[in-house]
Amino acid sequence: MSDLEAHRQEVRAWLEENCPPEMRQPVRDEADVCWGGREVKFKNEAQRQWLERCAAKGYTVPDWPKEYGGAGMSPAEAKVWREELARINARPPLSSFGIWMLGPALLKFGTEEQKRHYLNQIARGEIRWCQGYSEPGSGSDLVSLQTFGEDKGDHWVVNGQKIWTSYADKADWIFCLVRTDKANKYQGISFLLFDMKSPGVSTKPIKLISGNSPFCETFFDNVEVPKDQIVGELNRGWDVAKYLLGHEREMISGAGGGDRTSAIGAAMKRLAGELDPILRAELALFDVDALAYSAMGEKFLDEVKVGKGHPAQPNMMKYAGTELNKRRHELVMAAGGSAALEWDSEASDGGSKARNWLRTKANSIEGGTSEVMLNVVAKRILELPGVS
Ligand SMILES: Cc1cc2nc3c(=O)[nH]c(=O)nc-3n(C[C@H](O)[C@H](O)[C@H](O)COP(=O)(O)OP(=O)(O)OC[C@H]3O[C@@H](n4cnc5c(N)ncnc54)[C@H](O)[C@@H]3O)c2cc1C
Repeated sequence: MSDLEAHRQEVRAWLEENCPPEMRQPVRDEADVCWGGREVKFKNEAQRQWLERCAAKGYTVPDWPKEYGGAGMSPAEAKVWREELARINARPPLSSFGIWMLGPALLKFGTEEQKRHYLNQIARGEIRWCQGYSEPGSGSDLVSLQTFGEDKGDHWVVNGQKIWTSYADKADWIFCLVRTDKANKYQGISFLLFDMKSPGVSTKPIKLISGNSPFCETFFDNVEVPKDQIVGELNRGWDVAKYLLGHEREMISGAGGGDRTSAIGAAMKRLAGELDPILRAELALFDVDALAYSAMGEKFLDEVKVGKGHPAQPNMMKYAGTELNKRRHELVMAAGGSAALEWDSEASDGGSKARNWLRTKANSIEGGTSEVMLNVVAKRILELPGVS
């Protein structure tokens, strides 16, 4: 038996014993997602057990080094772990901006002390993070951000406003882009970490078209941030920010698996006889594109793992994955007919189809818009002239 096969058997046996049956069901609503954090409220005992058991083995972040809370798996072993989770339809034990975004940036840019401190907390789901990038005048043109950190010797005093900060009202800490030099656009930004309970931090929720309110305006009024809470060098936070955005785009693209971009034909099979032939043809076409996307994702991830990834690949995946997810939900709505538009009824599970469909409209905006992704693909992959 190969080492990888032995690893698969070990993982399979562990999952059999440790993944509670309730955690082998599709995620139906927000309460099914475990975000961790200081004020975590588990939906049930199974959700708590699943997180604790995985965290104890380093399985919330299987490919991070053991000293930072991971399981030290190689890329191939981590792939086997994901495949075995998918085989039993297991939910992720922990969903976290710390895992998807901040963690990779800390692994690359953090000091040894920061890695040991923050990464272990992230792996155990103890701290919930939010992302303070966008500002009212700075979204696609992020580098124009104005939130300012004034140097006060052993700390900065931060003033300004962020917007669209996902879960800012529920997060414990923020990773935040702050201007620390007004004279230099790109080399005048620093990447700071601070507690959302710091005096001077406040949030105001904003409602989405889906009726939910997952993000906020975030205000900083003379917030004191100690100097050791900077990641990377002073005024070189843009390098950290860009690196993190690559991971964010990869995560939003769904390239690592999950049902965002998976085929839907099988799920629609029981309706197939009732569906209009044109819709059935569209479903089939979608499934072909979804399979092609998933193969492209596997290829890109493998290339990244062996150091051959093109730096603009996450932009391409983000564009393709989010447009695919929007198409997926359009088809679900079309197949569901007028009943799918129900908003509040019990029969419609609180309007889950319609709300999920409306939520996908934001997929091609969050983490960088589709137009901006296409600009990057045109410039950096296709090398077309005249693209700014
Ligand atoms: C659900 C959701 C969650 C989010 N969560 C967070 C978060 O947690 N933290 C955070 O910091 N931000 C977050 N954002 C903000 C997100 O990153 C920005 O919305 C995004 O970068 C676009 O910026 P903007 O909204 O300012 O739009 P703008 O940049 O003003 O763009 C407006 C329109 O102009 C187009 N456009 C802009 N520039 C160009 C160009 N050069 N070429 C062609 N077209 C262009 C855009 O494509 C878009 O259609 C979130 C957004 C959403 C929708």
